[in-house]
Amino acid sequence: MGKVPKTIKNMRKCICKRCPSYTFACKIKTMPANVMNLIKGVDKTEHHEGIYCAYEKSHCIDEEKGCICGTCVLTTEYSLDKKYYCTATDGK
Ligand code: SF4
Ligand code: SF4
Repeated sequence: MGKVPKTIKNMRKCICKRCPSYTFACKIKTMPANVMNLIKGVDKTEHHEGIYCAYEKSHCIDEEKGCICGTCVLTTEYSLDKKYYCTATDGK
């Protein structure tokens, strides 16, 4: 599993929401569960939609339309060397 800690601070830095692969339909579909994760505690959940480098791959995104992980500050902070963490757990 990824080396990025599951924290609110890191979650706020994730730019997946701005990525073309994270479709509007997925944003709407995954919003309720994401809100529940915030209430439950982001460190206590196995799955979250977003910050995929810290969790597992998406349960919604299935088409790769470009990845912007390379411009995310967490890529630099944690020396990540992969992308498409949403379609492959631990990236590819
Ligand atoms: S590296 Fe990619 S998956 Fe990880 S937080 Fe940044 S944008 Fe999201
Ligand atoms: S992991 Fe990459 S491709 Fe997937 S939503 Fe985040 S930035 Fe986009």
